[in-house]
Amino acid sequence: MATAVQPDYETIIIGAGVAGIYQIKRLVDLGIHATVLEAAPDLGGTWYNNRYPGARFDSESYTYGYSFSKELLAEWHWKEHFSAQPENLRYLNFVADRLDLRRHMQFGCRVEAARFDSDNDLWRLRVSDGRELSCRFLILAVGLLSVPTLPRIPGREDFRGRAFHTFDWPHEPLDLAGKRVAVLGTGATAIQLIPEVAKKAAQLTVFQRRPNWAAPLNNRPISEEEMDGIRARYDEIFATCDRSPYGFVHEPDRRGFREVSREERIALWDRLYDEPGFAIWLANFLEIFSDEEANAELSAYLANRIRQRVKDPVLAEKLIPRDHGFGVQRVPMESGYFEAYNRDNVRLVDISETPIERITERGIRTTEGESEFDIIVYATGFDAITGAYDHIDIRGTDGEALRDKWRDGPSTFVGMMIHGFPNLLMPNGPQSGSASTNYPRGIEVGVDWCTRLIEYMRAHGHLRAEPTREAEERWAAHVAEMYQKLLMRKAKSWFTGYNSNIEGHEAGRIRYFIYNGGMPKYRKIIQGIAHMGYEGVVFDGAGNPAGTTTSPAQAAGMASS
Ligand code: NAP
Repeated sequence: MATAVQPDYETIIIGAGVAGIYQIKRLVDLGIHATVLEAAPDLGGTWYNNRYPGARFDSESYTYGYSFSKELLAEWHWKEHFSAQPENLRYLNFVADRLDLRRHMQFGCRVEAARFDSDNDLWRLRVSDGRELSCRFLILAVGLLSVPTLPRIPGREDFRGRAFHTFDWPHEPLDLAGKRVAVLGTGATAIQLIPEVAKKAAQLTVFQRRPNWAAPLNNRPISEEEMDGIRARYDEIFATCDRSPYGFVHEPDRRGFREVSREERIALWDRLYDEPGFAIWLANFLEIFSDEEANAELSAYLANRIRQRVKDPVLAEKLIPRDHGFGVQRVPMESGYFEAYNRDNVRLVDISETPIERITERGIRTTEGESEFDIIVYATGFDAITGAYDHIDIRGTDGEALRDKWRDGPSTFVGMMIHGFPNLLMPNGPQSGSASTNYPRGIEVGVDWCTRLIEYMRAHGHLRAEPTREAEERWAAHVAEMYQKLLMRKAKSWFTGYNSNIEGHEAGRIRYFIYNGGMPKYRKIIQGIAHMGYEGVVFDGAGNPAGTTTSPAQAAGMASS
């Protein structure tokens, strides 16, 4: 029932990244009293932080921009097909300034704790600047990869040179000329970084534990003329993204892998390897994701590509993954990564053969001996998906901590709501469609759904919404089921919750972090749920009866009817 207590804000959004920016825009347009709290000194989220050389989109730039505003689309000129971090941050600032959103954002304030006040149906937040703030709705737009993790190697504090995670790459210019640099890790970040450091540093040593598959990004500039053409095709481009499983312009080749000859398969791969972006991954045969044999044939093809590009045959073999097939982990896109190893100033240390014993005052000591460095860069990944949630002490209806509820992996209702945590919304939460798609394409869908729920509650005079336990369990089961079909369930990657640097996240138990059913199916399911008055969600007062839940498949059917 309605209570008299008025919170400080109707809605507080945590995070001023890509999701938070669009979310505040939607709320402001509805006249909702809302604010964004951001821990960093400025907006931009991932593009504010990741300033390492080589950081750029792996999504076509013009598919990464927001689609909701014709004016923004008309005004912005992407300069490269895969735009780099400085330009991406400029773009987000352009959006915020053009839409006058900064006045709804507060920077340098980290939300430390959030507790649901059941008596008054609102959230009470503790902020790092000492304030206590309350809100009816709490929207977590905290990012999927926003908590960096450092390796658990002894001696890290002993090093006398400079050392930092790629996420914390210095904001002031860092001169690499004449420097001896170590990079730990060979994930998507390192694969962007390594060719850039190789060009500038005196020596670069890459410490590789497991090699990663990678394919050429094939980036190039966008001329004024070409941009005019892109602007004219925006509707078509976004329609293609909406159709494709993961929100990209690349649509799978729907011919059966075995319906075509081996020669035709090779011809397709030869073409896709030279195409921009994720084409080789996402415009491929669908079987590569689920069929061991199909995946092995493609992996063998890509192994040969590595052999062709790396001059030293022994080194080439070290760079070929053996423990997982192509595309079962997130595929890093590269610009001269393999050629970097042909340079005299670049050395690979295979730490699966010669493990790191410790970091020393002067460098890194492996079982083979000590190497001295001026700079150590940790490209060692993130406490993915749930990390940013775990870092806030979030307490639900009976004081339960979210980090305890999610100890063995997240459990959500359509990735956007949580049983026991009313009025908490996550436009890009764990197990949501946007967790596994071209990020802004998924975010717009998630933000629109959360906004529509708030509008619905306002229209019906509800002050509280919470998914039922049954609805959440159904979603968790559906998410888990989607993993069973894919080879990626066996991979050691953040898709499955693996991170050797976090206790409990070492390989072993799989965490169902992302929704793998594809964006079209996800959109249908969540729109179906909204269409049906949010079955599976219990509202205060005149809300629908508790426990009446619709299965994801039923919801999808309803939406299409
Ligand atoms: P990552 O994929 O998790 O890679 C981390 C790397 O560090 C791996 O090679 C890992 O080796 C290594 N590593 C971690 N801990 C280690 C330790 N203790 N000792 C030795 N090696 C260690 O992280 P990431 O490269 O930062 O990428 C994360 C995600 O960010 C990507 O998958 C992607 O989704 C996103 N990203 C996107 C873009 C873009 O869109 N342009 C660019 C960069 C990143 P093991 O494999 O052996 O664990």
